[in-house]
Amino acid sequence: VVTATGLGLVSLGAPAAPADPTRRSPADLKALADAAGVALEGAPAEEIARWATSTFGDRFCVTSSMADAVVAHLFSRVSPGVDVVFLDTGLHFPETLKVRDTVARTMAVNVRSIRPRRTVGQQDGELGPRLFARSPDECCFLRKVEPLERALSDYDSWATGLRRDESPTRANTPVVAFDAKKGKVKVNPIAAWTQADVDRYIARWNVPVNELFKKGYGSIGCWPCTRRTKAGEDPRAGRWAMFEKTECGLHV
Ligand code: SF4
Repeated sequence: VVTATGLGLVSLGAPAAPADPTRRSPADLKALADAAGVALEGAPAEEIARWATSTFGDRFCVTSSMADAVVAHLFSRVSPGVDVVFLDTGLHFPETLKVRDTVARTMAVNVRSIRPRRTVGQQDGELGPRLFARSPDECCFLRKVEPLERALSDYDSWATGLRRDESPTRANTPVVAFDAKKGKVKVNPIAAWTQADVDRYIARWNVPVNELFKKGYGSIGCWPCTRRTKAGEDPRAGRWAMFEKTECGLHV
C-alpha cells in the first residue's frame, strides 16, 4: 500500500485490520443504508457526502478511478482528510497517474494507491503474457476486484462516482445502498448527475480532469482495454471493446 497526503507518496506495509469492538454489524449497516437510500434520494450531493462521513467517520473512504477528481473534490470540501482509494493496476495511462498525483498534491485528502498482489511482470510470468487479452475477467479480478476488497476491509462504507446516465447498466444506481456481497454501504453521491452537471462542477471548482478526454476517450480505464470512442457512441463503448464485457466487476 502506498499513501499520499499533500506532499508526496509514503510507503506503508500491508493494510492494517485492527479488531474494532465498535464496528457495526452487517444488519445495522443494511438498516442504515436502506433508510438513507430513501431519505437521501433527490438530496444534493454535498448532503449525501456529509451524511456518509458523519455516519461512518474513519470507517469510510472514497474510491476514484482518477478519470476525473469530482467525487474526491466533493468529499475534500465536506470532510478534509478523507481517504481516497485508487486501484493502481500497473496498467494505467500516464495521464491517469498524473490526475492521482495532482489530487494528492492539491486536495485535502489522503490518497491510498492500492496495488495488486502481483506486479504485471509477475502475473505475466505465472499466468502468461497479456492476460487481459485472453481472460479479461480474471485480469480484472486480480488487478482490481481483489485489491478493492482488500482495501475495503478497513472500512464500513465507500463512495464511488457512478452515475445513472453513464450507461444502461448504471441507470438504476441508488444514492445509498447496502452491498450484501461486501457487507458494506455503498454511497453514490452523484448518481443523479448528468454529464452537464459534472462539467459545471469541474468548471466551478477547477477540478483536475484526465487529459485523455480531450483526445477522444469517452471513459478511461487500463490502457490495454480502453480505446477512443466515436461521435455518438456510448461513452463506455471504448472499454473492453473487443469483448462482451462492460464492467470490470467492481460494481456488480
Ligand atoms: Fe486487466 Fe484490462 Fe481489467 Fe485492467 S481493465 S485489470 S488490463 S482486464
